[in-house]
Amino acid sequence: MAKSLKKSKASVDSTRKETIRRKDIQKKLSQALKDTAKLRRIIKNAANDNRKIKEELESSLRKLKEAQGQLIHAEKMEAVGRMASGVAHEVKNPLGIILQVINYFEEELPAEQKNNHQMLQMMKDSAKRADKIVRTMLSFSRAEELKTELQDVNVIIESSIELVQHKLKLNSVELVYQLEKGLPQLLVDTGKIEQVFVNLFNNAADAMPKGGKLFIRSYLTELKTPKSKIGNRENDIFKLGEKAIMVEVEDTGEGIGESIINKIFDPFFTTKKRTEGTGLGLSVAKSIIEMHKSLIDVESKKGQGTKFTITFKLPDGRS
Ligand code: ADP
Repeated sequence: MAKSLKKSKASVDSTRKETIRRKDIQKKLSQALKDTAKLRRIIKNAANDNRKIKEELESSLRKLKEAQGQLIHAEKMEAVGRMASGVAHEVKNPLGIILQVINYFEEELPAEQKNNHQMLQMMKDSAKRADKIVRTMLSFSRAEELKTELQDVNVIIESSIELVQHKLKLNSVELVYQLEKGLPQLLVDTGKIEQVFVNLFNNAADAMPKGGKLFIRSYLTELKTPKSKIGNRENDIFKLGEKAIMVEVEDTGEGIGESIINKIFDPFFTTKKRTEGTGLGLSVAKSIIEMHKSLIDVESKKGQGTKFTITFKLPDGRS
């Protein structure tokens, strides 16, 4: 009996030991499973991180290529601009002489020679057109000094509108002013900024031959969204958080197609008839705005309209 009891105790002991051993193995197994899951998560995260890094690298490379393209383009345009102003200097004086001679012959020619008078008039019109182009080309000259003064941008907008009022009326363009009052003054060359606005208003009128609306807005804002030339990079014209005056010129005209929108600021780019467009207006406008350390941008949808936005730098110490 005692022997049998001893035997069954030994069996119970061994079963208990086996149970403990199994539990231990199970514990280790479940720990190993947890470790494997953790490792899998780490590997997955690392793969995700790698993918993100790759995407970021690719996006940086794209931006770099874009910036490089823009730089090459800007340099090309700068060279074209320099050449244009060089040619203009050379052509300006001979053209002046041609116009003087035409005027002389006009006065000398007997009134009854109508055909000759007509021909002289044609010569005069052509020479005047060439003279206008040459004068516009001269605006490219970067060396040209800005005659700056403190001025309210709304005053310049209003005086520019007066210069194109006639054309806007002819095209049945309705003007919608949304000008913020009490804006800080800008330090600008009033005549040159007027030239920019007149060009934008003229283009808007041309884009709405059958009528439409021309919105002109001005407001003070704080620049919060980084974009080309706005950010905290060394070459940015505006820093984030800086205040600026915005002027928007928006029309409901024909709009600009995607295939040409990148070209409209290029010198001599025009979609107008040879007698109507020189393709110099916007390139000169851009050059003037950049001389004022400011920015000009365009957004447009074919068939819906176009919006030009100028971001004006405030005089130092006012931002
Ligand atoms: P131009 O007026 O002599 O053609 P610009 O440099 O002023 O020269 O304009 C270049 C081109 O940009 C225009 O020929 C036209 O195709 C386009 N453009 C400019 N402003 C507008 C506008 N508001 N709506 C539609 N197209 C425009």
